[in-house]
Amino acid sequence: MTNGVRAKLEAVSLSYRYGGEERAPVLDSVSLSCAAGGFLAVLGPNGSGKTTLLRLLSGWLKPGRNTIFLDGRDLLSYNRPEVARRLATVAQNAQPEAAFTVEEIVLMGRAPHLAFLEREGSADRARVDEALALTDTVHLRRRDVTALSGGELRRVMLAQALAQDAGLLLLDEPTAHLDLSHQHDILALLKKMQREKGLTVVAALHDLNSAARYADHVILLDRGRIAAEGAPAEVITRETVKRVYGADVLVIPHPATGAPIVIEE
Ligand code: ADP
Repeated sequence: MTNGVRAKLEAVSLSYRYGGEERAPVLDSVSLSCAAGGFLAVLGPNGSGKTTLLRLLSGWLKPGRNTIFLDGRDLLSYNRPEVARRLATVAQNAQPEAAFTVEEIVLMGRAPHLAFLEREGSADRARVDEALALTDTVHLRRRDVTALSGGELRRVMLAQALAQDAGLLLLDEPTAHLDLSHQHDILALLKKMQREKGLTVVAALHDLNSAARYADHVILLDRGRIAAEGAPAEVITRETVKRVYGADVLVIPHPATGAPIVIEE
């Protein structure tokens, strides 16, 4: 899966405020670059701006002109299907309202590849089957999406994004509502797709240990600004966690991988 095209995403002095000029910015001059084929984790305490950043990067919220570049071009210069063929999004609280089956929801991920009123073909169906298998949701395919558990729904929405076959995947807290084993499965799947298929992954994560284990690069937001960025071991330190989260923690290297592990004191 993924069409083999590596996608690159950058933000340059990106600021955003909900409402008029009198409101304080929720994001303030954020610049970042997600290398094509990289795994970038966006970290930060509640309210630091992670969801807003992802909504801007996905085009769901409208950024200023020339502040976000997808494959080197201003995000605003693309039309919707052009964006959707390059970039797929898994929102934090996606809640399909209508009673579609899981299979129908995942098939909707193919829409950007179909012409107006064109019916899906066997290649599209094969993509859907593959996405269901990767996310361990094959057994749910005939179920009504409104009757799934939170964790099942998250895996189905990930399947839809994978079926979209974009080179870049943006995920807002992809492991929220998942039990431990599915948390690991989803992050390990994203890592595998990044390594083997060249998928570029940008994920907001609240768990520092997951970020340390799976991401190659992390940015840490604090009240809308980048407080630290770099390799996980550079960013996830006792001092930085104290400064940004106000929490006293121990940070020790993982015995096997060397990645930092955060332990509450
Ligand atoms: P995070 O994902 O890190 O928790 P958010 O991006 O959701 O952070 O929120 C950043 C700030 O923006 C918070 O202060 C939040 O209250 C505010 N905010 C988020 N969404 C809206 C909105 N739709 N209208 C006004 N303020 C918002």
